Amino acid sequence: MADQDPSRRVRHILGISGGRDSAALAVLMHARVPQMEYFFCDTGKELKETYQFLDRLRARLGITITRLQAERGFDHWLSVYNGLLPSPRMRWCTKKLKIEPLEEFIGDDAAVSYVGIRADENRDGYISTKPNIEAVFPFREEGIDKAGVIRILEESGIGMPDYYRWRTRSGCFFCFFQRKIEWVRLSDEHPDLFALAVGYEEGHSDGRRYTWTAGETLRQLIARRAEIEREDVQRMSRASARPAPNAPLAEVLALHFDDDDVGAGCTICHV
Ligand code: SF4
Repeated sequence: MADQDPSRRVRHILGISGGRDSAALAVLMHARVPQMEYFFCDTGKELKETYQFLDRLRARLGITITRLQAERGFDHWLSVYNGLLPSPRMRWCTKKLKIEPLEEFIGDDAAVSYVGIRADENRDGYISTKPNIEAVFPFREEGIDKAGVIRILEESGIGMPDYYRWRTRSGCFFCFFQRKIEWVRLSDEHPDLFALAVGYEEGHSDGRRYTWTAGETLRQLIARRAEIEREDVQRMSRASARPAPNAPLAEVLALHFDDDDVGAGCTICHV
């Protein structure tokens, strides 16, 4: 492991995604590891709420968050991939816009990477296979679950990212991991971004069609908005968990927008 050669400086790094879990991890670790280097992989397709949340975090903790950005952006890589929209099976976006800039940032330095996977999660997320990077999981080691994360953010005064009102994950506005109801909410909250996402589906002069969400285009999806909203109400009423009457707003939102049941995500993108 990285610490074994005393002549080499070991870097301590923590990736901030703009989401809840990595922010809470920064709160937990910033006093314990003063030399921590915080970074944010910026795809250039983020929500403005994400930048606002990062500003809050920066101001509250007094930390610097280094912005990592690929030399060539999403639109360049989209054309390299011949217009093929990224998907859970073809996640070139994560590789090109997040993993490669991160690995360049670390280079060959020995580094300990602090990963915000919670004790109640059953997934690995992105863990570098480079031998000079060692991943550690403080939430898992300390048994910190989702309620614990929410508590950390509330007690710090940072609170939840504003987009949690309508969306469960950080990341690109067009992220294919979002639920259908979240596409509907994107069209309400950011109609300009929704229109851009529609444009990505339709922008092929040779008539090829790719879709962000399984089985339908965004135009078809939005035409079904009443049905999607109805299904979402049913999903929420099926959820047996109910917050305590005096539960903080963040806890209520976390129940309604539980991001643990919407397929695999990735720590480098979403938490
Ligand atoms: S947030 Fe979604 S669309 Fe953006 S890089 Fe990550 S997986 Fe790809």
